[in-house]
Amino acid sequence: MKGFIFDLDGTIYLDDDIIPGVPEAIQMLKDRGDKVVFLTNKSIARRTDYVKKLNNLGIEVELDEVINSNFITALYLRNTMAADDSVYVIGEQPLFDELAEADIKLAAHATEASHVVLGWDRQFTYDKLNAAFQAWRNGAEILATNPDRTCPVQGGEIPDCGAMIGALEGATGQPVKRITGKPSSLMSQYILDNVLRMKADQCYMVGDRLETDIRMANEAGIQSVLVMTGITTFDMLIAASDKPGFVLDSVQEITTL
Ligand SMILES: [Mg+2]
Repeated sequence: MKGFIFDLDGTIYLDDDIIPGVPEAIQMLKDRGDKVVFLTNKSIARRTDYVKKLNNLGIEVELDEVINSNFITALYLRNTMAADDSVYVIGEQPLFDELAEADIKLAAHATEASHVVLGWDRQFTYDKLNAAFQAWRNGAEILATNPDRTCPVQGGEIPDCGAMIGALEGATGQPVKRITGKPSSLMSQYILDNVLRMKADQCYMVGDRLETDIRMANEAGIQSVLVMTGITTFDMLIAASDKPGFVLDSVQEITTL
């Protein structure tokens, strides 16, 4: 039995379109007894939204088989925050919902926050940046859901959480070190220990992005599989420092590994 961890955008689907042959290939893995989980860095949707979307696209999946960066962020905060700590959050409603579900206390004022969470926020403003900056000046720990600079969309790409990170780093002059999503070991360890319950070398991480999917797998000792259906071109692959163990045209070929 093997474990397969699949990225979503650019790996399973592009926007709302399933990549051809993917549901059948995943069903073949399940039929032969392999375990499958889905993993996304995207912080602007809920895990339940992904379950619905995958089911609608013909992939049967349960809630505990879908992990996103918001979920890992909430888990990290729950495990590290003291009783009177509180968080200032930049992000969209799904991130706030995930933190509320984990009983994470929000700061009444940013300057009182012990932690700042940066997520992708399409209503990001100077006021929010300043609030996060003032929290940092008061000693708050900064974390971010994901380092992705952009998110691929139909016909191009748009700024993702990496742009929020860049704005705060520009003000503080310090790198944001704590990322909860891919390529963080917080994410890979949680999946190996609590979802797949397997050793790293029994598992494959399948994704389209070198600096998140492939780097996380390589750092964790998980076998890395790049698919060419998303963001990465052959030129990017040749120039990259994060090299995958395997390269496939598409998840459709996953059972040939
Ligand atoms: Mg992707």
